[in-house]
Amino acid sequence: MFRIHTGHQLKPLNTMGIDGTVDTYVEWSSAADLHCLFTGPDLSHVVRQSFKSIGSGSNMLFTRYRVHTPLLRCVNDTISLVSETDTDVILTVSAGCELDRLVEHTCYNGWWGLENLSLIPGTVGGATVQNVGAYGVEFGNRVVSVTCYDTETDRTIDIPVCDMAYGYRDSALKHSPLSKRMIVVWTTLRLSKCPAPVLTYGRLSEFFADRDEQLSPVDVRDEIIRTRRAKLPDVGITGSAGSFFKNPVVSADEYNIVLSNARRLGIDTSAMPVHHVTGPDGEPLIKLSAAWFIDKSGWKGYRRWNVGTWPGQPLVLVNITGYAAGIEIQALAADIIADISDKWGITLTPEVEYIK
Ligand SMILES: Cc1cc2nc3c(=O)[nH]c(=O)nc-3n(C[C@H](O)[C@H](O)[C@H](O)COP(=O)(O)OP(=O)(O)OC[C@H]3O[C@@H](n4cnc5c(N)ncnc54)[C@H](O)[C@@H]3O)c2cc1C
Repeated sequence: MFRIHTGHQLKPLNTMGIDGTVDTYVEWSSAADLHCLFTGPDLSHVVRQSFKSIGSGSNMLFTRYRVHTPLLRCVNDTISLVSETDTDVILTVSAGCELDRLVEHTCYNGWWGLENLSLIPGTVGGATVQNVGAYGVEFGNRVVSVTCYDTETDRTIDIPVCDMAYGYRDSALKHSPLSKRMIVVWTTLRLSKCPAPVLTYGRLSEFFADRDEQLSPVDVRDEIIRTRRAKLPDVGITGSAGSFFKNPVVSADEYNIVLSNARRLGIDTSAMPVHHVTGPDGEPLIKLSAAWFIDKSGWKGYRRWNVGTWPGQPLVLVNITGYAAGIEIQALAADIIADISDKWGITLTPEVEYIK
């Protein structure tokens, strides 16, 4: 059964802690619920016009006090073991399962693959759409297929991972027309029973460098939790949506403009993080650090009224007092984007999605 709430408070629905109300908020558990919702008499005329799926609201910014678009949230958090061999397990996980509950479950079972994603807020539905990533691992690396309710045909369909177009914090479900049409019901994952630690991230490789005994997924998870707690705000205390901007990916020419701007500004670039990556058409590109630009432009630890940047990680915009309006965060983000563009010739793009 789905549950309809009218005039529901927004604050519990987003980690940024933005207050307000949503006219219509629906909690659902299964594809059958969605079928009743989209074809039944209660709300089909409303949700057929527009709807927005929501997980934990940890990658969203509500920019208006009153949200008219109906918000639909999966409250089913089932994790099922579908099959296993000597080397692999296949799991299906409902969209409403908290990602970190899944990661804890898999690590304690000794299954490798998700441990680097420990402590990322949000649900499996959100992670499937966002392709969350941390410490060298992306969620999409573990996906076999995604089962969605198609609101246009009112049928459930399986999307194989090869059709998910996973990229950096990106998937086919983030873009129109699929973003307006598909609701993730569950995701099928393949994890490994054989040790497969990914320790390429600097601090992790240093930490585990002199460990002789065999590592477990729990060892890696524990260290990642320690690292994240030291660096990022606890959303239970300070509202945030994690990294607010995507890391810019630039061509060699654009990179040379950044270097000449640094010389003009008298800023040393010897410690600037630079990663060589390949573009969608195989072209060589350079991934830079948005946090580095924000820091070098003087925004680290910045505060005005209710909002600011997190001192430990300037890429994170925070609701310092807990009373910020979405528009205050939006205005701060716009000022940072304009300043970085003026100084460096780089256009930062929000990773966080603005919901009107
Ligand atoms: C402190 C903090 C740290 C963070 N660290 C990281 C990090 O290290 N790496 C990283 O990648 N992200 C990070 N994030 C961002 C965030 O946790 C992820 O983007 C997460 O996947 C969002 O999940 P959610 O359930 O909250 O999704 P929401 O924010 O609710 O939604 C995100 C998108 O997914 C869609 N969506 C959600 N559920 C469904 C569904 N069932 N069907 C269809 N669409 C759906 C929404 O419509 C929206 O477009 C962090 C956030 C915070 C607050």
